[in-house]
Amino acid sequence: MSDPLLSIDDARALILDEVRPRAPEALAVERALGRVLAQDVTAAQDVPPFAGSAMDGFAVRSGPAGRRLRLIGESRAGTPFTGEVGDGEAVRISTGAALPTGADAVLQQELVQDGSAEIVLGDAVEPGRNVRGPGEDLRAGARVLHRGRRLGPADLGVAVHAGLAALDCAPQPRLAVLATGDELRPPGTPLGPGQIHDSNRVTLAALAEREGCAVALARQVPDDAAATRAAIAQALAAADVVVLSGGVSVGPHDHVKPALAALGVEERFWRVALRPGKPTWFGVAGDTLVFGLPGNPVSAMVTFLLFVRPAIAALEGVVDAAVPGQVRLGEPLARDPRRDACVRVRIEGGLAYPTGPQGSHVLSSMSLADGLAVVPRGEGELAAGAEVELIGI
Ligand code: AMP
Ligand code: MG
Repeated sequence: MSDPLLSIDDARALILDEVRPRAPEALAVERALGRVLAQDVTAAQDVPPFAGSAMDGFAVRSGPAGRRLRLIGESRAGTPFTGEVGDGEAVRISTGAALPTGADAVLQQELVQDGSAEIVLGDAVEPGRNVRGPGEDLRAGARVLHRGRRLGPADLGVAVHAGLAALDCAPQPRLAVLATGDELRPPGTPLGPGQIHDSNRVTLAALAEREGCAVALARQVPDDAAATRAAIAQALAAADVVVLSGGVSVGPHDHVKPALAALGVEERFWRVALRPGKPTWFGVAGDTLVFGLPGNPVSAMVTFLLFVRPAIAALEGVVDAAVPGQVRLGEPLARDPRRDACVRVRIEGGLAYPTGPQGSHVLSSMSLADGLAVVPRGEGELAAGAEVELIGI
């Protein structure tokens, strides 16, 4: 009998099919850290733009040791010497100052007997010594940053060197988190009978921020049909991506699916051949992506990493999104006959070992983990040494 549940890959393909990136926006470079480039960046000129000195010292013509040279001026950073350096002449020069015409080397201060009008060179000087050539960093016309790159601090500096003050970037996805459940209490508050602390609101918002989103809204929602509808309507108005946790199964107090249907959010799939994370729901309202993640804290995080994270990356046009690696199991692992399992593993000596009990409520199994090992469904055990996909967390 064929398996009625969607595979992880098929579920992800259905999600990526619905991603509609928004038009890029121009951002001042100072505002672009962590944003994804929507343009290629080309250097407008050579960087450095001129031949300059790498040292404080004297600009000279290359030649033998023991020469006496007449000091004819100074080249400072930002204020070049305008004359020409001839044989028997030298110009005092600072680090970063332009090399004067006629000079082809710099002798550092320490190697020179320094008089006020004359210097004596202790060393022979070869051409190009202590000179930074134009274009050693960036060549005029070269593509120095590529579309789809998430910008780090050095990238912003490279864009500045390339001549730009603003960059076209993908708009930051706005993401809303709705944590459903009557049992949920805010962090730090005392718990009454049957109550638990709401960790999903915090972990899901943190995952979203780490992936580059602006968290437009993050709140708890009681298990009540009208309250669930109102909260989803609020989230749809505020966000490009709505992430719900809990309430997506078929219990009498699971209001998420009927509320989504009532608001016209179109279901694309419900349930994936995944453990933990089987009840995952996905749908769309216009261009807004809506995820109903299971409430168990590990399930919520695993399904965010597997499904929401790639959707965010696609929304932003990320080109270098992390590709899963491979890892060998350090010990045999039981397989689920019908569902692929995401086992939280730590890596020791290049091998993957489960981080203790793997229940979907055991959130410490996630915080101790280096990654998720994907153990394909099947009969019996997967042997120690078997190679599996490793997903970064
Ligand atoms: P549900 O998917 O609503 O049936 O919830 C499944 C399990 O996850 C239950 O044990 C819930 O108490 C728990 N759970 C649901 N939401 C959260 C949350 N925001 N933080 C921590 N645990 C939760
Ligand atoms: Mg619930």
